[in-house]
Amino acid sequence: MCDMSTSERVSATERAVIEGIVERATQFVVDPPSGDDPVITLASPAMLAQVFGANVGLAFDDRAMAHDDVAVLDAVEEIIRYSMHTSHPRFVNQNFAGPDPISVVGDWLGAALNTTGATFEVAPVFTLMESAVLGKLGRIAGYLPANADPLPVLPPGLFCAGGSMGTLLALQLARHRHQPDVAVKGSNGDRLALFVSESGHYAAGKSAALLGIGTDGVVKVPCDRDGAMIPEALEAAIDDSVRQGSVPFAVIGTAGTTVTSAFDDLGALADICEERGLWLHVDGCYGGSALFSADHEGRLQGVERSDSFVWNLHKMMGMTQQCTALLVKDPHQLAPCFAAKADYLFQTDKLYGEYDSGDRTFQCARRIDVLKLWLSWKVRGDEAFRERIDHAVAMASHARASIAASNGAFVPVVSGDFTNVVFTWVPPDLRVAVAAAETTADGDLRVEDLSAELRSALHGCPPLIKAQMQEQGSGMIGFQPVHGMNTFRMICMSTSLQRDDVDALLAAIDGGGRSACS
Ligand SMILES: *Cc1c(COP(=O)(O)O)cnc(C)c1O
Repeated sequence: MCDMSTSERVSATERAVIEGIVERATQFVVDPPSGDDPVITLASPAMLAQVFGANVGLAFDDRAMAHDDVAVLDAVEEIIRYSMHTSHPRFVNQNFAGPDPISVVGDWLGAALNTTGATFEVAPVFTLMESAVLGKLGRIAGYLPANADPLPVLPPGLFCAGGSMGTLLALQLARHRHQPDVAVKGSNGDRLALFVSESGHYAAGKSAALLGIGTDGVVKVPCDRDGAMIPEALEAAIDDSVRQGSVPFAVIGTAGTTVTSAFDDLGALADICEERGLWLHVDGCYGGSALFSADHEGRLQGVERSDSFVWNLHKMMGMTQQCTALLVKDPHQLAPCFAAKADYLFQTDKLYGEYDSGDRTFQCARRIDVLKLWLSWKVRGDEAFRERIDHAVAMASHARASIAASNGAFVPVVSGDFTNVVFTWVPPDLRVAVAAAETTADGDLRVEDLSAELRSALHGCPPLIKAQMQEQGSGMIGFQPVHGMNTFRMICMSTSLQRDDVDALLAAIDGGGRSACS
């Protein structure tokens, strides 16, 4: 049987699959799981293999056969059922959460038009959208004056494949400024040193490894208790590394650390970098979006003095992954650092070639990540972007208040003042002892002053509680050692997260603790 007439692009089966997936995905986007729906339906790898065995199978045989639309759409149902429901308000596990629905369909549209952002000739509209959005982000960050050209031919940066990639590119720019022939000659032998806080993202170390600086060239600068770099410690670390024969070239300031959402004092870092001629890169992957809110933009004061700034719109702003802007203060530095001048692509004698972005970055093909952001911003306007940030911080404040009112069931470890709340659960029989322990001026538990037994009893609970929550699907929350002890990290970010959800999460932790860790 043949269901494909020669004039049709897609067969009846393909059409049924396309329409079936669009319908299910649309349904998921407009009405995602919430309330008591499971955040995750946990299945072991063996169970997952078995589930798909009832339709199309997960693995491929040596001779993979074609399946009909019914079997494929059955598989799609299982994909949705067993995937993490990051749109559920009780997913507070990571520095991203459910996507902005407009960004999802923006991604679909970009995929449907399937092009690359590398040249104007194949991405005329998207090239200008990048210029528009980067111009706007550049003005918000203070890289450009308020009256700057809203559609610059040379925008102040580019979109790239994630925050780690943005950090890698920024550090190559920094190294290029330090040694302008590095792209041609390789390292001149300087033992380069790069400075980032102890709470900074591991992308610094990974980038140093790739750039040939080596992870030994990454100096981890001490932080205060909340996770912000101590500027005096940075100065001391720079002096120290010079004494040891290293050549400092760059500092990474973090605006919103991954675990405690702490902000380094960028103004103080800029003073130090200006005085010593160091490149200041700001890792605003997580907290850069605070700039959208008048109430929170002050946390990034000084960012306008940095040389580069990486900003993940796929985190706090809910764009689908990925959507990362790398802003650079002097975009003229991009081409000398990254150009390969491929004459089959970047012809100098073609129409509008001056708009081509491809030779200003490392990537060749580049996804059209700007489209979804452009669409969402046009649909929502600045005001909704501001509300998103303010709502997130309000939910975190609510979590702090609920923890404070929990009669010792929960204690803050780094309560912070932005979106992340780091705390732990205390078994009932230990509450008196923990209540008597030392706290900071902010009321955070001084973990390092606890007795070894108490600390190890508290340390053991989060993994057990989390495992039980995963089994029940009652919430997804991360844990990690902070000040040497396992603690929970509630990341308040999704627009759907409400006070009831925060309290339901705390109740699920308490219930899990009583049954798994008492
Ligand atoms: C997430 C994150 C990164 C890395 O961004 P990716 O897009 O995941 O590569 C870098 N720095 C901080 C502070 C982050 O939170």
